[in-house]
Amino acid sequence: MIDFAGRTAFVTGGANGVGLGLVRALLAQGCRVAIADIREESIASALATLDNAEVMGVQVDVSSREAMAVAADEVEARFGPVSLLFNNAGINLFQTIEDSSWSDWDWVMGVNLHGVINGVMTFVPRMIAAGNGGYIVNTASMAGWLASGAPGIYNTTKFAVRGMSESLRYSLAKYGIGVSILCPGLVKSYIYASDDVRPAGLMEGAKPIDHAAVERLAGAHQAGMEPDVIAARVIEGMEDNRAYIFSHPEFREEVAELFAEYLA
Ligand code: NAD
Repeated sequence: MIDFAGRTAFVTGGANGVGLGLVRALLAQGCRVAIADIREESIASALATLDNAEVMGVQVDVSSREAMAVAADEVEARFGPVSLLFNNAGINLFQTIEDSSWSDWDWVMGVNLHGVINGVMTFVPRMIAAGNGGYIVNTASMAGWLASGAPGIYNTTKFAVRGMSESLRYSLAKYGIGVSILCPGLVKSYIYASDDVRPAGLMEGAKPIDHAAVERLAGAHQAGMEPDVIAARVIEGMEDNRAYIFSHPEFREEVAELFAEYLA
């Protein structure tokens, strides 16, 4: 297993759900960890719960490359060079492609795909320049392998994140930088879709969010896997540089044949 102690990790979407699970697991391994999230109040409550001097919060919208560079500078000034990058922030509008507006496309692509690109483009040159290798974990989804129809833009972004990550794994190997892909099925989290973090410029033409549907899905997600279980498994296996699929036990048989070599 990787020697995590003393390394600096940058976890996007680290204030809730899977990201917060990763933050806890990394702190337990002796890392310094930056929670990079758009929701200030979530960062504050995560920091209060963790109560650890080795964790800091940085408010950032991952869809902005300028904001990512500022956040990277802030974290590295306090905790030193980032050698563990978790591009994990994500949103889901739970709607089909034909029901989506241009604004919806821009928002979900901005966070789920450009957010990952921005993380990679911000930190990879820094990791290469530091010359100490590193590890990147990009959160895609089982929805990056299978399309179920409903989350159309979401599917699009997650297939793309998986493709980009596979490509990066080859190109970054020569720098000693490993790349893994985290593909959860259903996770016990509240996957947000709320206009409080949609950039104001993307409100025009946006369909109102179906809060009842989001609440229903958030309810369904309460039957999902525990973020801490997923996080521990990812940390344990990161050295292998591979794609991990986390299937909820209920669906494991259905996906076993398709994904035998990827199931974590
Ligand atoms: P979550 O909503 O609990 O956590 C996501 C975090 O991302 C939140 O803290 C949110 O504030 C943050 N975020 C949203 N927009 C942001 C932005 N523009 N910039 C920075 N931070 C932003 O959701 P989760 O379930 O923990 O999801 C984490 C990742 O796992 C996502 O990429 C998601 O697509 C993926 N995933 C989740 C599930 C699931 O069942 N929950 C399944 C498969 C994949």
